[in-house]
Amino acid sequence: MREHERARHLGNTLVWRGDPGYESTRARMLWNELTPPRFPDVIVRATSEEDTRDAIGLARSRGLRVALRASGHSWCGSPLRDGGMLIDLSRLRRHTVDRHSAVVQPGVTSRDLAHALAGHDRAFPVAHSGSVALSGFVLSGGLGWNSRAWGPACHSLRSIQAVTAAGELVRCSEDENADLFWAARGAGPGFFAAVTSFGLSLHRLPPATMTTRYVFPLADLEDIAYWTDEVAAAVPSNVELSVVLTTADHPVRPGSPPPKVVVVTATVFASSWDDATLSLEPLRDCPLAGRSLIRQADQPTSYDVLFAGSDALWPRRHRAAADSLWLNEDFGTLLPGMGRYIAGAPSDESLVLAVLSPGGPATVPPPEDMAFAPLGGIYLGCYAIWRDQTLDEANLRWLRETIRAAEPLGAGYYVGETDLLAAPSRARRSFTPAAWERLQALRAEHDPDGVFEPYPHP
Ligand SMILES: Cc1cc2nc3c(=O)[nH]c(=O)nc-3n(C[C@H](O)[C@H](O)[C@H](O)COP(=O)(O)OP(=O)(O)OC[C@H]3O[C@@H](n4cnc5c(N)ncnc54)[C@H](O)[C@@H]3O)c2cc1C
Repeated sequence: MREHERARHLGNTLVWRGDPGYESTRARMLWNELTPPRFPDVIVRATSEEDTRDAIGLARSRGLRVALRASGHSWCGSPLRDGGMLIDLSRLRRHTVDRHSAVVQPGVTSRDLAHALAGHDRAFPVAHSGSVALSGFVLSGGLGWNSRAWGPACHSLRSIQAVTAAGELVRCSEDENADLFWAARGAGPGFFAAVTSFGLSLHRLPPATMTTRYVFPLADLEDIAYWTDEVAAAVPSNVELSVVLTTADHPVRPGSPPPKVVVVTATVFASSWDDATLSLEPLRDCPLAGRSLIRQADQPTSYDVLFAGSDALWPRRHRAAADSLWLNEDFGTLLPGMGRYIAGAPSDESLVLAVLSPGGPATVPPPEDMAFAPLGGIYLGCYAIWRDQTLDEANLRWLRETIRAAEPLGAGYYVGETDLLAAPSRARRSFTPAAWERLQALRAEHDPDGVFEPYPHP
C-alpha cells in the first residue's frame, strides 16, 4: 500500500501535533497526572491489527520512530517520546477464552481478564491493579498476583502475534520466530515489535483466597521486619507476603495526625479453605500482635477486593513516580533503613513496598529460557504519590533519595517499574548480562533501521 493510501485508511485515527485535540489526546496517553513534556509528532489511535500495520508502514515511509502504548501505566512515561509516532493500542480490547488458554489483545486490562477467566473457572497472574493492561505488563515480565506459585506472567505466555519493524505480521512462539518470542518475555519497553495479541496459558481459579493483615506503628518496624523473615521462611509459595510502609488513612486518636504504619499482608491462593487456613498459620500467633493497631485474620477475599486494595494504594488522578530494586537480602536487613524515609516523605500517600518475589526461596524455578529473570528474592518498590503540582520537585527528590538508600543492597532493577530515566545503566541492569547481550543482538537483527524506540534513557 502506498503512503497516501495508508494515511487515508488511518483517517481520523491520526492526531497530528497542532491538530485540535492533540494536547488532550497526549495527556490521556498516561495513567499518571505527571505528564512529561515530550511531544510525539503524531498519535495513532489504532482500532485494529490492520491499523497497527498501516501505522508502522506510514511511520517507515515518513522516517518516524514508533512508540507504543496500551494502558499507559509506565511510571516513567515510556510511551511519550519527543517526535515520531505513538501508536495507542488501548482500543484493541478483544479476548477469547477457553478452558486452558486465552488470546487477548493489548488493551485488555487485568480486571477485564480476571473477570472473563473467572467465568471459566480459570485465572492468570494478572497485575495487582485492575486497570493495568496485560500488554506492557506481560512484556516486562509481569509480577502479578500469586506469581511465586504461578511464575511471573511471562511464564504463562505461549505465543504472540506482532507487527515487525519490516511491517510484517508474524506469529511468535517457542517454535516460530523463537528469538522474538524469547525477547517478548521480558524486554518490556525496549521490545522491538508491536504486539497485537497475546496467547496465554491459564491456571485453575483457586477456590479459596484468603488474606491476613496486621497494621503496626512505624516505631515497631525493626521487630516486625525480623518477624516477617520468620513468616517468609514458613509460608508456602502460594502465599503472597508483602510489607508496606505508609501513612494510615485515619488518626488513632481524634485530632492527632494519621500515624505512619507498617502493614504486613499475606494473601493465599489455595485449593481449599482448610489449605488456605493452614498456609496462613505462620501469621496466626504473631508475638507482636499486642502492638498491632489492626489485626484481620483469615479473611476470605476475591480479585475485586484485591484490586480495590491496590486502587487505594495507587489511586488514579494523582501525580506519581516509582522506582524499584531486586534484593537478595532479608526484610530485617532492608526495612529498618527505609523507615526513616517514609517518616520524612513529603506526601502521606507515598509508600514503600517490599514483597517476597518469584526469585525467592520456595518458589517454582523458571523452567523456560526468556529475557526476564527475577534478580533477587525480595522486590522493593518505592512510590511517590502526590497531588500538588508545586510539590513535584520535593516528591521526586524523596523518591531518588529513598531508592538511593537501598541501592547498596540491590541486585538489579525491574524493567517494568524502574525509573529508566534515572541513569543510562538502568535498562542494562534490569537483565542478566547474557540476556542483555542477546537483547542488543536481536534488536540489531530485527530492527536494523531503528523503527521502534529504544529503552528510554536520560
Ligand atoms: C498502578 C500501577 C500498578 C502496577 N502494578 C504492577 C504489578 O502488579 N506488577 C508489575 O509487574 N507491574 C506493575 N505495574 C507496572 C506495569 O506493569 C508497567 O508499567 C507496564 O508497562 C504497564 O503496561 P501498559 O500496557 O500500561 O504499558 P504502557 O505504559 O502502555 O507501555 C509501556 C511500554 O510498553 C511497551 N508496550 C506496551 N504495549 C506494547 C505492545 N502491544 N507491543 C509492544 N510494546 C508494547 C512500549 O514500549 C511502551 O513504551 C503497575 C503500574 C501502575 C501504574
